[in-house]
Amino acid sequence: MNNLSKLYINGQWEDWNGETLPVHEAATGDVLAQVPAAARSEMRRAIEAAHKAFEAWSETTLEQRLSVLKQLHTGLTERAGEIAEAISREVGMPLKLARQIQAGLPAAITESYIKMLPDFAFSEQVGNSEVQYTPVGVVGCITPWNYPLHQVILKVVPALAAGCTVVLKPSEIAPSSAYILAEILDRTDLPAGCFNLVSGLGQVVGDELIKHPDVSMVSFTGSTRTGHLIAHAAADDFKRYALEMGGKSASVVLPDADLKAAVKGTVSNCLLNSGQTCTALTRLLVPADKHDEACQLAAEAVAKMTPGNPMEETTRLGPLASAEQRDRVLDFIRIGVDAGATLVAGGPEAPEGLDQGYFVKATVFGNVDPDSKIAQEEIFGPVLCVIPYQDEADAIRIANGTAYGLSGAVWSGDADKAKKVAGKLRTGQVFVNGGAFNPLAPFGGFGHSGVGREFGKWGLEEFLEVRSLQL
Ligand code: NAD
Repeated sequence: MNNLSKLYINGQWEDWNGETLPVHEAATGDVLAQVPAAARSEMRRAIEAAHKAFEAWSETTLEQRLSVLKQLHTGLTERAGEIAEAISREVGMPLKLARQIQAGLPAAITESYIKMLPDFAFSEQVGNSEVQYTPVGVVGCITPWNYPLHQVILKVVPALAAGCTVVLKPSEIAPSSAYILAEILDRTDLPAGCFNLVSGLGQVVGDELIKHPDVSMVSFTGSTRTGHLIAHAAADDFKRYALEMGGKSASVVLPDADLKAAVKGTVSNCLLNSGQTCTALTRLLVPADKHDEACQLAAEAVAKMTPGNPMEETTRLGPLASAEQRDRVLDFIRIGVDAGATLVAGGPEAPEGLDQGYFVKATVFGNVDPDSKIAQEEIFGPVLCVIPYQDEADAIRIANGTAYGLSGAVWSGDADKAKKVAGKLRTGQVFVNGGAFNPLAPFGGFGHSGVGREFGKWGLEEFLEVRSLQL
């Protein structure tokens, strides 16, 4: 890829001679590339380009927009190997998994919109009114590093499909796949200005994007801290916003569940992408009399997850994405030990033979106080908290006892019972007895986990304003 040192504005790759930001390889700490730390003036030009392009793009037919999405899908499929490798190096996800998830999911999501769009009603008759669903305007997309292309695609595809134009500010830690996306879109029939890519610091170009009066909506995925800033900035100008933020999801194992299957399912979910997953099931809630057995099973499951270089086909647990993130996770592990939780597996020492790169041992804490810091705050690393509960009401209270509400799980031998408990969890999605992830179902959070929904028709509606014509 030749364009990593550039900006993509108004359909042109522009050279950048200002300051740059290093992109590191998670497994070694080596510098892989330098990307622009663009200035506010560059972001303003990108917004201007998107604003100018909006009028014509918003009036295209669905067929024209679908044709671009099909070209995009072809490009994502052709360049899947390159996407997987770039993300694996930057984020640390094992390559084998990165092929399926980091490269496979963006293509699958794009395809799901291509299939769904022809059936979406962009207008409907309600009595004497024609209700029209019309594009919201210029959308500013701001994204994090953990699933860097997936999170971009969940915004860019439905926004363009709705008839909006886009300015993307990708994560500075894992930007390569956003550049591959820009290269793919550059070769489609998408008119100049409809998609723009400006890399740089959140506090500079991100801040310009959320405050600029010509941006009608901000679609953000990232930390709750940044989401809070965005909601405040958007409120000043009555901008629309959609926020996908952090989580501290509970996996509730009911007394009649298959404990072995529940612990295995929870551990593998918690450790996916080394725990750098917003929906990770990081709190395992078990009946008090099964706590020790659950800890033993969790220790056995994490023992199989020895950390290693993500480029090796046999590796199941890679490093974290940055030195800062590794240090943050290690601090949490030390806080857990100091607070008196039982260290069942792992710990704050570097894994053997892996003193370079950003590796952390898969760690399990038992007897965790549900109100303690490690049980309340998002750690975003390979750390599982096992929490004993007294009865079902106690389990539901603990599960709902954080500021978050993104995901969850319920395990029971009785499917109806599991569904009933799932319905009491204050969270945007619940996996019942290991139910499969569904990209057509809405995804988003309650409380501090989010505002709005992504995926499927709900993800498209975020980018549409509603107008009634009274006839
Ligand atoms: P972050 O909030 O630090 O950064 C996310 C993006 O916001 C980056 O592009 C960053 O440059 C930008 N940004 C930072 N400060 C900004 C500012 N002042 N103004 C405008 N933009 C700014 O988050 P991160 O550390 O990159 O990502 C990890 C977080 O993302 C975790 O908390 C995780 O739970 C969350 N996340 C949520 C979901 C979800 O769908 N709910 C998905 C993935 C990650």
